[in-house]
Amino acid sequence: MTTYYERPSKPPRGARNKVRRHAERAHYDRKAVEAILDATFVGHVSFVVDGLPHATPMLYVREGDQLYLHGAPRSRLLQLMAGGAPLCVTVMLIDGLVLARSWFHHSVNYRSVVVFGEGRPVRERDEKLEAMRKLVDQIVPGRAADSRGPTATELKATEIIAMTISEASAKVRIGNPIDLESDHALPTWAGQLPMHLAAGEPLADDYSTADVPDYVRALFNGRP
Ligand SMILES: Cc1cc2nc3c(=O)[nH]c(=O)nc-3n(C[C@H](O)[C@H](O)[C@H](O)COP(=O)(O)OP(=O)(O)OC[C@H]3O[C@@H](n4cnc5c(N)ncnc54)[C@H](O)[C@@H]3O)c2cc1C
Repeated sequence: MTTYYERPSKPPRGARNKVRRHAERAHYDRKAVEAILDATFVGHVSFVVDGLPHATPMLYVREGDQLYLHGAPRSRLLQLMAGGAPLCVTVMLIDGLVLARSWFHHSVNYRSVVVFGEGRPVRERDEKLEAMRKLVDQIVPGRAADSRGPTATELKATEIIAMTISEASAKVRIGNPIDLESDHALPTWAGQLPMHLAAGEPLADDYSTADVPDYVRALFNGRP
């Protein structure tokens, strides 16, 4: 079956990945969805247990139409994901605060994605190692080659889940507040306060003898 993700188009009315409010801010094409997924590494994974909703923040990395997630094999969430339970992952980047002249029209500028899919446990050694390497490099690009890979025990203590994306949507807000025209004359300052995630000065631990690597300095100088 071809999914929306494989053949992105505007989802039909009633589809679960159809943005309803501010539909003009919605994007469904792979490029838009992937650009947001690849710009960060934390998502909120939602799932249902005994009819009740749960959501957990997790690290992830995307490879093609799959998100790789990891955790302890005995954790309830990882077991649920390994069993193929339906999952929903949301990812969000705040780009700025939007200060309007009225309480009602305050907002935030953002890029967000909602993806649906199902997980499968990754047990094949090469795929598992590659997923672990990608996870490390997604968080600190260049780190995997500069640090030790997992021992057999560490590999066993890590469950990797590959979630295949079946449906996806992105939503992006940019720009100024949308104030009522009748409010434009108010003396209140209005506009945008751009925001981004920034790394601080690297702090070596007690055992470090090496210089701070360039790829760490690069993050300190500003993650894009
Ligand atoms: C940082 C941030 C803060 C927000 N704060 C609020 C708030 O306080 N109140 C509020 O009502 N809304 C807020 N939103 C917007 C919210 O995410 C929904 O877009 C909004 O509630 C309208 O949903 P809907 O009724 O169109 O769709 P729903 O019926 O809720 O969802 C239908 C489908 O649309 C898609 N979709 C909906 N929203 C998004 C999204 N943001 N990104 C990607 N796909 C999406 C999903 O596939 C979803 O399954 C916020 C968004 C962000 C990123």
